[in-house]
Amino acid sequence: MTRTYAVIGDPIDHSLSPALHNASFAFLGLDCTYIAYRIPKGELEAGISDLKKINIAGFNVTIPHKVDMMRLLDEADEECRAVGATNTVVNNDGYLKGYNTDVWGFLDPVRKRKIDCSGMDVLIVGAGGAARAIVAGLAKEKAGRITIANRTAERAESLAKFAEKLGVESDCVDIATAGETADKYKFIINATSVGLKGTGLPISTRKITKGTIVYDIVYMPVETQLIVEAKERGAAIIYGWEMLLAQAMKSFEIWIGRPAPYEAMKLTLLGRF
Ligand code: NAP
Repeated sequence: MTRTYAVIGDPIDHSLSPALHNASFAFLGLDCTYIAYRIPKGELEAGISDLKKINIAGFNVTIPHKVDMMRLLDEADEECRAVGATNTVVNNDGYLKGYNTDVWGFLDPVRKRKIDCSGMDVLIVGAGGAARAIVAGLAKEKAGRITIANRTAERAESLAKFAEKLGVESDCVDIATAGETADKYKFIINATSVGLKGTGLPISTRKITKGTIVYDIVYMPVETQLIVEAKERGAAIIYGWEMLLAQAMKSFEIWIGRPAPYEAMKLTLLGRF
């Protein structure tokens, strides 16, 4: 019988996940399919009940449900509990187990480049859901200090507290001037949505230096303005699409029990931009 997977969220029609997973299923000849399913905010419980009725095999969770989905799970893995949000769910006859593959997705390109984050001073720009998964990832890698710059200061403070709770020293700086001290950090991560569809720069790049690692989790366009300017200054770049691909591959592995086909997924993803 065909096994059906989904991504739930709102908006959802722009999601690249159906293309990625359907390409992998086809490549491996699996009798599986993956759909985008819109569930508006406030309708999560009813939406999940509908998915159970069609015996959904598993699903991804995106904005605005990643945190709310936690209370509808029967079980949550360690990563998921640490972050307080889920993006991947397995349905076993109505028993829902949640995972958070954003942490893995963030770390995978860092580990592939053999970047040692232990003791490192890191600047994270942004304090939303993705930034939270990134903090959890950096805590796993034993980062030395995480500095957070966010438009809404209270959210930055709350994320800094979360980092401290995970055992990493943390402080906050003003986003308007964070770029002026960029040379203090070995690793700078943009976890805001600034740069999405060409919407400018999250921080000034003037003080980014050769050897700084700049990781922009925005994946559309591939070459954001931050990436273009950081490259001009000699920074080493990690692209948002790498995180997107890694988190999707991890979800696939959780559901299917075998590695996702990297090349098929990568070709599908990059062909979509
Ligand atoms: P979110 O929870 O809504 O957080 C959005 C963040 O962006 C907040 O820090 C917000 O600041 C900031 N922001 C939004 N507009 C801004 C502006 N005009 N100026 C300054 N800051 C602004 O979203 P999220 O889930 O964390 O996602 C953030 C971005 O990462 C999105 O673009 C998403 O597509 C991308 N993402 C990529 C991957 C990947 O795999 N590559 C994975 C997850 C997310 P305030 O707190 O002040 O509102």
